[in-house]
Order: sequence, then structure tokens, then C-alpha cells
Amino acid sequence: MAKILITSGPTRQYLDPVRYISNASSGRMGAALATAALQLGHEVVIVSGPVPTIYPAAAQVIPVVTTDEMLAASQEWFARCDGAIGAAAPCDYMPKIVETQKIAKTGGPLTLQLIETPDVVATLGQTKRDDQWVVGFALETNDRRFRATVKLEKKHCDMIISNGPIAMDSDVNDVELLDTAGEVIARVEGTKQKVADVLMTEIDRRLIHKTPATPL
Ligand code: C5P
Repeated sequence: MAKILITSGPTRQYLDPVRYISNASSGRMGAALATAALQLGHEVVIVSGPVPTIYPAAAQVIPVVTTDEMLAASQEWFARCDGAIGAAAPCDYMPKIVETQKIAKTGGPLTLQLIETPDVVATLGQTKRDDQWVVGFALETNDRRFRATVKLEKKHCDMIISNGPIAMDSDVNDVELLDTAGEVIARVEGTKQKVADVLMTEIDRRLIHKTPATPL
């Protein structure tokens, strides 16, 4: 049995007390992966941004709002986990300045200055122990396989799941699972639960039990 950290959902970056930047990530892929992992007998901790999705009751859920909070919670919990799956869509940018009062309309354009947030998966990948593993997602509209392989390397992942924009706020997905050599080791489309079941079976076999690969 392994203890698995799953990051899930979007993050929010506030501009002022009432407005924020975010994205349409629903947390459904994270929930489906958690269900699949629990079914295989693993323990699951989900670090989740704000989502309407209900996670399986057997999973421990750590709610966060911003990317910085997602990073801090993930680092804290990853230390006690065997592996991590980055299914979240954290905001890549945050306002340089967060106004303490609601920004008033002036009749003119408003220019926002944004700075990069930390990359949660890359940080976990860079700092993982030899006995830990990290699996990332790469959502791409073009050159999917190539770009996913580049991300896998850059973020020090042990596997990466390449998917397309169909994944966003949807019940279905269409993915390829790539290993560190960039080889496609599984290809699956269908409901997010079906996709998660196949992905977790592969993660279970290749990263948790480390048994030899079977050809596609
Ligand atoms: O670079 P991109 O956002 O496409 O990478 C996707 C992968 O990186 C996903 O696994 C996502 O959860 C993770 N990610 C992250 N922190 C960020 C941005 C992306 O963990 N700030």
C-alpha cells in the first residue's frame, strides 16, 4: 500500500478583496484518480483548490486557495507520501500587487502587472527522495507528445500524462501516458473515471510495485 498525494482543481490569485484570476479546472480528474487509487488499496491525500467536486470520503482533503498555498501544503504532505500526481491546474501568474481595497472603475483601461507563481510539480520533482515518484499532466493544444516530454524532463517527473483542451471542465478525457524515455506506455479515452482507472493501474504497476512493462 502506498500513500499518494494528488493535487487537484484550480487555484485563485486575488487582485483585490473580491476579484481573482483563476481557470475552469473542475477537480474531476483529481477525484477520479483518488477513487482509482483508493480502490487499489492506497491511502490518498488531496491538496485541492476551490472546486464544486465532491472527493471520495476516504481521501484526506487539504483545501487551499492560492498557488503558494498549494505548494506549501503539497511540500508538507509530500514528505509523508510515497508519490505525487499533479492533476491540479494552478494559476501560473499572480498580480504583483494585491490591492487591500476593491479596485474602483476609472473609466479608463486597467493594467495589471503579473508575476509567475511557483510550479508545484516541478518543485516536488526537484526535491523528491530516491524512493519517491512524481507524475505530472501536460495540457497542450499542439505538438502534444513532444511538449509533454519536454515538461516531463523539466519538472523531473517519472511519468507524464499528455492530454488536450477537451480535459478542461469535462466528464471525459483523451490521454497518453509517457515514460521518462518519451515512450507511450498507455493510451486511453473515455470518462475521466475510466481514464483514471487505467492511469492508476499503470502507476501502481510501474512506480509503486516496479514490475516490468508489458507492451501496448
Ligand atoms: O506547465 P503546465 O502547466 O502545462 O504543466 C502541467 C503540470 O504542472 C500539471 O501536472 C500541473 O498540475 C503542474 N503545475 C503545477 N504548478 C504550476 C503549474 C503547473 O504543479 N504552477
